Amino acid sequence: MSIAHNIQQLRSSLPPEVSLLAISKYQPIERLQEAYDAGQRLFGENHIQEMAAKAATLPADIQWHFTGHVQTNKIKYMASFVSLIHAVDSFRLLREIDKHAARHGRVIDCLLQIHIAQEDTKYGFAPDECLHMLATEPWRELQHVRITGLMAMGSNTDDMEQVRGEFRRMKELFDHIRTTHFAHEPSFCQLSEGMTDDYPIAIAEGSTIVRIGSMIFGSR
Ligand SMILES: *Cc1c(COP(=O)(O)O)cnc(C)c1O
Repeated sequence: MSIAHNIQQLRSSLPPEVSLLAISKYQPIERLQEAYDAGQRLFGENHIQEMAAKAATLPADIQWHFTGHVQTNKIKYMASFVSLIHAVDSFRLLREIDKHAARHGRVIDCLLQIHIAQEDTKYGFAPDECLHMLATEPWRELQHVRITGLMAMGSNTDDMEQVRGEFRRMKELFDHIRTTHFAHEPSFCQLSEGMTDDYPIAIAEGSTIVRIGSMIFGSR
């Protein structure tokens, strides 16, 4: 199936309020161009320099989301153009992004990554850690980053009830954080969760951005 067909198919199955982020990591420029020609404007990449190289070549109206682990020494390559950073998992990282955004006179939107899956990974806040960070660190003083929501990856399992439970807990955490810290900020509104294998469940449980790679571009 063509990329255009896959995108059309996906779009027709998504509620209008859910954004489709095309995860284009490792895909060559021509395939991103194909998606662009089919109307796709949100692209997500997992390696900062790869994203910067693609952004320099492809049309300027693309919004680039960074969905990978952020290495602080590489923030400088994306600070001038990235539109949303999905995987912020420490106050320290938020402060680093703020510093680079300031140099470009920008405010960079960021999501806090929460670790909910069963897998062991060193990335993402535990829910309690995230609450602790928001309650104790001076993140409100950072003028060049804006926290606009949460991001998570479901467990990599065939047990879809397990995954559903994880997304449900994410929505509870999201609502709790919103009422506790962002009650007067409508910009805190994004819940990034759901990939090729679990996006319908993520949407049913409140996702607002699905991150889809292989269903659009085929296997990597
Ligand atoms: C690769 C990746 C995706 C897309 O995964 P697919 O299963 O190919 O849809 C989504 N989110 C993140 C963070 C990824 O690294």
